[in-house]
Amino acid sequence: MRAAIAARCRCDEAAWTLSLAEEAELSSAQLATAQGTARALTVTLRAERAKSGGVDALMQEFSLSSHEGIALMCLAEALLRIPDVATRDRLIRDKISRGDWRAHVGASSHVFVNAAAWGLLITGKLVATHSDRTLASGLTAVVRRGGEPLIRKGVDLAMRLLGKQFVTAETIEEALASGRAREARGYRFSYDMLGEAAATATDAERYFQSYANAIRAIGRASARRGVYAGPGISVKLSALHPRYTRSQRQRVFAELLPRVKSLLLLAKSYDIGFNIDAEEADRLDLSLDMLETLATDSEFAGWNGIGFVVQAYQKRARPVIDWIVDLGERSGHRLMVRLVKGAYWDTEIKRAQIEGLDDYPVFTRKEHTDVSYLACARRLFAAPAAVYPQFATHNAFTIGAICALAGDAEFEFQCLHGMGEALYDQVVGSDKLGLPCAASQDSATAGALSRPAQFHGARFFGRSRARIARPGASARSPAIRGAPDAGVAFRLR
Ligand SMILES: Cc1cc2nc3c(=O)[nH]c(=O)nc-3n(C[C@H](O)[C@H](O)[C@H](O)COP(=O)(O)OP(=O)(O)OC[C@H]3O[C@@H](n4cnc5c(N)ncnc54)[C@H](O)[C@@H]3O)c2cc1C
Repeated sequence: MRAAIAARCRCDEAAWTLSLAEEAELSSAQLATAQGTARALTVTLRAERAKSGGVDALMQEFSLSSHEGIALMCLAEALLRIPDVATRDRLIRDKISRGDWRAHVGASSHVFVNAAAWGLLITGKLVATHSDRTLASGLTAVVRRGGEPLIRKGVDLAMRLLGKQFVTAETIEEALASGRAREARGYRFSYDMLGEAAATATDAERYFQSYANAIRAIGRASARRGVYAGPGISVKLSALHPRYTRSQRQRVFAELLPRVKSLLLLAKSYDIGFNIDAEEADRLDLSLDMLETLATDSEFAGWNGIGFVVQAYQKRARPVIDWIVDLGERSGHRLMVRLVKGAYWDTEIKRAQIEGLDDYPVFTRKEHTDVSYLACARRLFAAPAAVYPQFATHNAFTIGAICALAGDAEFEFQCLHGMGEALYDQVVGSDKLGLPCAASQDSATAGALSRPAQFHGARFFGRSRARIARPGASARSPAIRGAPDAGVAFRLR
């Protein structure tokens, strides 16, 4: 089975997608359900968003489908990482100067959004004139000279505000307390440690201690609700070892495995789910080896809290699911599988180009990733004893398609704190899509890390997440049954 996985790594995309599309095909009834759900979710979401203000409205105006939205997001992400002022100024100049901010002025009904658009327009004009001789008036020069630090401060503040949108809390205790209201509405939470791959052994040790503390805190809060009803933790293996790469396999297994095992044992002692995050494609083999070693370790026999993330954008995703199902069957675990589309697409493409490889390990068309996602989902639904499917997506059609494919299967949706709730607020709760939801919340964010707050902000994109569980069979809600056709992004034949 591992050979079958390897064979798909850089396989021909067109032929492989056709084959996956056959598996992913929705019946016309399923397609209608999926489209209806997507439409119902989107219509309500847009109406709700129109009422909202602040960061949500700002993000709606500067959406990621616009050049300006992408510029802002890049800026937000990057500014929080750049330590020196000169580079920050250069980045601001680069990102802000090229946007068509004027087009956004007055486009939103929110004062905050318009003020931001005006601010960006003016900032863009100022920084764009940096080398522009046509506007070489003394005034501009003065503003520019004094302006950049001001602009930097302003943008920095705005980005921190934006970052807060995704931050559950600074400490695990705060995070645990902060989600009670959502918990009461049907959400439950799993937590991730903020941070990147460890660069040094000291980093790795600090992350290890942070994870251990977080597991203890989550474990106490979980109060033995178990791996499905209770909160869980996600672990990034590259944060626990400075050389989490294939070439260091021996060292990784000698040094990292005992650490992961001790964290897993700790999680088991509290009966909370422990999830291994998916990272870059060239780490997949190592992560699969790690998963197999842990799942077949007799100390975890009979415990169902081991989880693994699969990225549908990888061409290997579908055979990876087969392998995980097989592992679940032969190890006697019901493995938790979080299906995501994948967060490192640009990196994968760039890396393959730089290395001059024959083909990419990921799909190059978004629709192909979507097809792969549904093919993987179908396989997961077909093996309920070996896997517990967790669908992490913010895509309304994908949510609809999963609901349509699920039948009576047990599964849960997952979203990211600060990003997905507006969408999932339309899903969670018996008065919404009628999906019964287990509720609980917990958190274990970056509190234990000693870096400054701005470091934490950068890491919150795509980390903290809320789980919305659909623990068993349920009747389709009126919202799904009655919703008209949505005419959404792609159609499976
Ligand atoms: C709870 C949660 C946990 C997550 N954990 C992880 C994790 O551990 N590891 C990880 O990698 N990601 C993780 N993600 C991020 C996830 O992989 C996606 O990047 C993100 O959710 C966007 O996908 P979507 O279905 O919500 O949105 P959509 O808009 O439907 O899909 C966007 C995704 O499509 C894919 N895509 C975009 N353009 C192309 C293209 N040209 N060709 C092929 N594919 C393309 C990319 O994967 C992109 O992220 C997580 C997400 C959530 C919600």
